[in-house]
Amino acid sequence: MQAIPDTRDGRPRVVIIGGGFGGLSAARALASAPVRVTLIDRRNHHLFQPLLYQVATAALSPADIAVPIRGVLGTGREEGLEVFLDEVTGVDLEKRLVNLRTDGPVAYDRLIVAAGSRYSYFGHDEWQAHAPSLKSLDDATEIRRRILLAFERAETVKDPEERRRLLTFVVVGGGPTGVEMAGAMAELAKATLRQDFSHIDPAGARIILVEAIDELLSAFTDSQSAYTCEALSKMGVEVRLKSPVEAVGPGFVRFGGETVETPNVFWCAGVQAEPVAGWFGAAADKQGRVVVDAQMRLPGHPDVFVIGDAASVTGPDGKPYPALAPVAKQQGAHVAAIIAAEMTGEPAPGPFRYRDWGTMATIGRSAAVGKFGKFAVKGFFAWVLWGLVHVGYLVGFRNRIVVLVNWFWQWLTYRKGARLITGSPRLPPTHPPRKLRDEAPARSTLDS
Ligand SMILES: Cc1cc2nc3c(=O)[nH]c(=O)nc-3n(C[C@H](O)[C@H](O)[C@H](O)COP(=O)(O)OP(=O)(O)OC[C@H]3O[C@@H](n4cnc5c(N)ncnc54)[C@H](O)[C@@H]3O)c2cc1C
Repeated sequence: MQAIPDTRDGRPRVVIIGGGFGGLSAARALASAPVRVTLIDRRNHHLFQPLLYQVATAALSPADIAVPIRGVLGTGREEGLEVFLDEVTGVDLEKRLVNLRTDGPVAYDRLIVAAGSRYSYFGHDEWQAHAPSLKSLDDATEIRRRILLAFERAETVKDPEERRRLLTFVVVGGGPTGVEMAGAMAELAKATLRQDFSHIDPAGARIILVEAIDELLSAFTDSQSAYTCEALSKMGVEVRLKSPVEAVGPGFVRFGGETVETPNVFWCAGVQAEPVAGWFGAAADKQGRVVVDAQMRLPGHPDVFVIGDAASVTGPDGKPYPALAPVAKQQGAHVAAIIAAEMTGEPAPGPFRYRDWGTMATIGRSAAVGKFGKFAVKGFFAWVLWGLVHVGYLVGFRNRIVVLVNWFWQWLTYRKGARLITGSPRLPPTHPPRKLRDEAPARSTLDS
C-alpha cells in the first residue's frame, strides 16, 4: 500500500480521526493555528445523533440532521485543511503513522482520536441481528423501514395473532434515546397513522419500553423520572421497569421473565467506545474508553490525544465525564488550544474542566425534562427549551430552518412527513421457530 503523499509545507500536521462532535470542534478551532489539518472519517457526513430517533420515526429526513464534512469545514477554500474518506484500522505510535483500510498510511505530528462509540449488547452481540440499534443514518432508515412495513403488513394479514405480533413494538433502554423513541413511536401510531389505514387501527399498536433498573432517565431527578413514566403511560406506552432483557431472537424478546413475540425490537441501551484502545494497547475503562490524563493525552505519548466518547477523562469529582455531545465538543476545542499553544510557544491550557450547561430529554408533544445544576424543569416549557437548544446545536443554517418548519407543521397537524419505506420490502420473522416457542415460559404475553 502506498503512503498518502505528505503535502506539508513546513507546518506540522495534525491528524484528526472522526468528524463527529469532538473531531469537528477540534478541526474548526485549529483553523487559525499554524498547522495543517487532516481529518479522516469513514463517513462523508457529520451526524447530529440527538435527532436520529426523529429520522427513525419518520419525523425528519436524513439530510435534515446530517451535513457533508467537506461542506462544513470549507475544504478546498480553506488552505491547510484536507478531508479523507476512509476507515482507520490502527495507529503506529513509533512511526507516527495512521493506517487506513484502503489507502495510507498518513503521517502525523499530533494525533487527535475522536472516533466515538457504538452500542453495547452486554456481551450478547448475537442479539444485534434481531434488535437493531440507532447510531447511524443507515440504522435510522432501517428502523423506519421496519416500523412502517409492520403497519403495512398488518393491514393485509388475516390472522389476528399475526396482526398482533406485527403491531407490537419493543424499545430496549430507558435512557434519553429509548424514552424519545418510545414517545415518538406512540405519536406516530396514535396520531399520524391513525387515519391512514382501512383494516387496522394503528392507535391500537402496543409500544413497550423496557428498562433494567427501577426508573427511567436515571441521570435526572426522581420527580422527573416519575413524570417521564407518567407522561409515557398517558401516551399509551407500556413501561416495564426492573425488566432486564434476557434473550432476543428471531421474532421474540424476553425480559423480566416475560416473552413477547414481535419482529420489532429496537435497541437503545448501553454504549461502548469504538475499539481504539486496541490500536494503542492502552488501558481502557469498563466501556472500553481509553484512559487519558486531564489534558486528554495518551499516557506515555504526549503527541496523541483521545477525546469524546472514546476517552475516559476524570473530572474534579473523581468520576469520568459522561458520553455527551457537549463534552466531546469542549474537549475538541481544548486539545486544539493545547496544540495551538505548543506551536506558538504560548502557555498551554491546563487540565480540562467540563462546563455543564445542563441536560435535556424530550418525551413527546409538549413534554420534556431538563436539569440545569440545581434547577429542574419539566412539561411544555422544558419541551420548547429542548427544541430551541437542539435547533441551535444543529450544524448548518439550512437544517435549522428545515427542522424548525417541520416541527411547527407537525405540531399543528400531527403529520410526520418522512413516512417513506426504502430498501427491502421484507420483514424479519414475526414469531420464533417452534423449538424456541416451546421453550418460552408460561407467562408469555402471547398467551395472555
Ligand atoms: C441516538 C443517540 C442520541 C443521542 N442523544 C444525545 C443528546 O440528546 N445529547 C447529548 O449530549 N448527547 C447525545 N448522544 C451522544 C452524543 O451523540 C455523543 O456523545 C457524541 O456524538 C460524541 O462525540 P464524538 O466526537 O466522541 O463521537 P461521534 O460524534 O460519534 O463521532 C465519531 C466519528 O468518528 C468516525 N469514526 C469512528 N471510527 C472510525 C474509524 N475507525 N475510522 C474513521 N472514522 C471513524 C465516525 O464515523 C464518526 O463520524 C446521543 C447519541 C446517540 C447515538
